[in-house]
Amino acid sequence: MNSPVDVAVVGTLNVDVIIQVERMPEAGETIMGRSVSQRLGGKGANQALAAARHAPTALIGTVGDDEDGGRLLAAQRAGGVDVSHVLRAREASGTAFIEVDDDGDNRIIVLAGANRELTAEHALHALDATFPGVVLTQLESPPEVTEAVADWCSRHDRRFLLNPSPVADLPAHVLAAADPLVVNEHEARFYAPDVDDDPVAPARSLLRVARSAVMTLGAHGVVVAEGSAVRRIDVEQVRAVDTTGAGDVFAGILGAHLASGHELVAAAELAAAAATEFVARPRQG
Ligand code: ATP
Repeated sequence: MNSPVDVAVVGTLNVDVIIQVERMPEAGETIMGRSVSQRLGGKGANQALAAARHAPTALIGTVGDDEDGGRLLAAQRAGGVDVSHVLRAREASGTAFIEVDDDGDNRIIVLAGANRELTAEHALHALDATFPGVVLTQLESPPEVTEAVADWCSRHDRRFLLNPSPVADLPAHVLAAADPLVVNEHEARFYAPDVDDDPVAPARSLLRVARSAVMTLGAHGVVVAEGSAVRRIDVEQVRAVDTTGAGDVFAGILGAHLASGHELVAAAELAAAAATEFVARPRQG
């Protein structure tokens, strides 16, 4: 179906398998796990669900023609996301194996599976069909897809939001199209390595590579860099129950509020408040 949307998220859908352990095993060691649980995730899926709370949103991606694929699609539909451009692919649905120890540290192995079958051709066809005002993508999809999406946005004067996670080198013109580049502190320092400890400095420095930048700092809030201005946004101090996926909630809601006409700082304030509320809330499995 070719229904226009305000936001298109191009990205991954995964089943997260979370294994709770007392401590991480050494190489070659076998340990007993405490428990295992499953959650539906993938950065694209998480960001689309967050965006859909505030704006008509489509997800562009691929899942397997399997039971997990069906569950992933059903969860998106239940959250109001248009999934008519999520293809069923030959490979099994993507899976992330997440080990979490008693200190809260994690190790993650992602099997891209069906997500690997997302092509630039399909993404461009879906963007032509939905013609969104805002396009949001991450770096879990094949690199040629990210590049094609950035170029489509430049060609059609659509707003391109790039959340470069997991962080990787990118062609300069892809970074230059990002408006904003949405990064956490670790990602900010990858693209702006030449700066000191002051968190405002990396954000300002990102303006050398991207059109605008939004840097999230966990409990320390957000820094927005646009034009010649750098603004710091504080967040409420809360007891964080689970911070997993906070960055995705932030990026999705930022995209939705930009699509509905908010200025970047106002949209970032709303996104930060929502992400902070999210980390303080217990999650369902
Ligand atoms: P993740 O990779 O865990 O999804 P991230 O590293 O991309 O997250 P963060 O900077 O940790 O992103 O968090 C994004 C936003 O979530 C922050 O800007 C803030 O609004 C909220 N947030 C995260 N952690 C906390 C916290 N401990 N207290 C309050 N707000 C938080």
